[in-house]
Amino acid sequence: MADKRDYYEVLGVDKNADASTIKKAYYKLAKQYHPDANPGDKVAEEKFKEANEAYEVLSDADKKAKYDQFGHAAFDPSMGGGADGFGGFGGFGGGFSDFGDLGDILGSMFGGGFGGGNARRRNGPVQGDDIGASVSIEFEEAVFGVKKDISYNRICRCSDCQGTGAAGGSGVETCSVCHGRGQVSRVQRMGGMSFQSTAPCDACRGSGKIIKNPCSKCRGSGMSRENKRLSVSIPAGIDNGERIALRGQGNDGRNGGPAGDLIITVSVRSHSVFERDGYNVYCEVPLTVAEATLGAEIDVPTLEGNTKYTIPEGTQPGTKFTMRGKGVPYVNGNGRRGDLVFRTIVEIPKGLNDKQKSAMKAFADSCGESNYAKHKQFFKKIFGQKDK
Ligand SMILES: [Zn+2]
Ligand SMILES: [Zn+2]
Repeated sequence: MADKRDYYEVLGVDKNADASTIKKAYYKLAKQYHPDANPGDKVAEEKFKEANEAYEVLSDADKKAKYDQFGHAAFDPSMGGGADGFGGFGGFGGGFSDFGDLGDILGSMFGGGFGGGNARRRNGPVQGDDIGASVSIEFEEAVFGVKKDISYNRICRCSDCQGTGAAGGSGVETCSVCHGRGQVSRVQRMGGMSFQSTAPCDACRGSGKIIKNPCSKCRGSGMSRENKRLSVSIPAGIDNGERIALRGQGNDGRNGGPAGDLIITVSVRSHSVFERDGYNVYCEVPLTVAEATLGAEIDVPTLEGNTKYTIPEGTQPGTKFTMRGKGVPYVNGNGRRGDLVFRTIVEIPKGLNDKQKSAMKAFADSCGESNYAKHKQFFKKIFGQKDK
């Protein structure tokens, strides 16, 4: 994480660069370091990957915003320290990870034919699809973080043939019809004109390879299904609807392409007392008339259990008290937390007996307008100078 370069630095753009500047910078690097332009050059390959990764984030407004706020931690798989790791939150759907898309873009940049054109893409490495999953957690689990086991189905490289599709090491041959291109060109004549068209090769179904003796488990596809269980570290501070991406836990890629991601949407159950807005937590605390009038040391619920809090004499209904740093921890915020805000309600006593009622009346009679500033103001506003 520490030695990872800043995405803006990777693309050589300013932090305030607009989308088109970012795009231009990326195209320049992609052209310069594309593996087809630098065969066998590991450094170029790394630069190419780095630029792709940076562009994938900075070209997506959502991801860019998260990156600007949290840096690499927003996406880094090592964050949270879970055994399986998790990739922060944020969506990784769509994006720019498919080599096919890249081929299209580079193809249009270079006037087509770049990297061997379509045939290459067809049997070149293809990244596996992302898989969506969801997990439901309690309010407190979202606040303090939790580990959850999740189980899901994924497409994986067939374990019997190691993804080759060929049984018992029988090997794979290059298709003799398309010479491994996966596509064949046909010339059609219509009304004195000839059209050239390309179509997937029938002999190898577009793969460019012929498997003489297909693996029985995957019927030669090289891919099979598995049910996978993972223990997922959900970071403290996650909020309802946020997503965690587990890099490389999606479907396996084809032809040596990388696996997709597992993207888990977290839903957080509501709490009986607390409400959450961002990293702040809110609740209401009922007071008796005497507590509100005289001031009192009351019990206030916090995320860590009840705590004593002294409210002053003459506390009004709806007064908000803020307990700094008693809210929800910021995701990866090094201990930084939001606030807990409680709002007072004053409960008017009901079902008084005669003795209580006369005591209350005696008390009321003893009060004058100096005890009731709002009351006095209100009636002044309505009736002018005339007092109640
Ligand atoms: Zn197989
Ligand atoms: Zn073929």
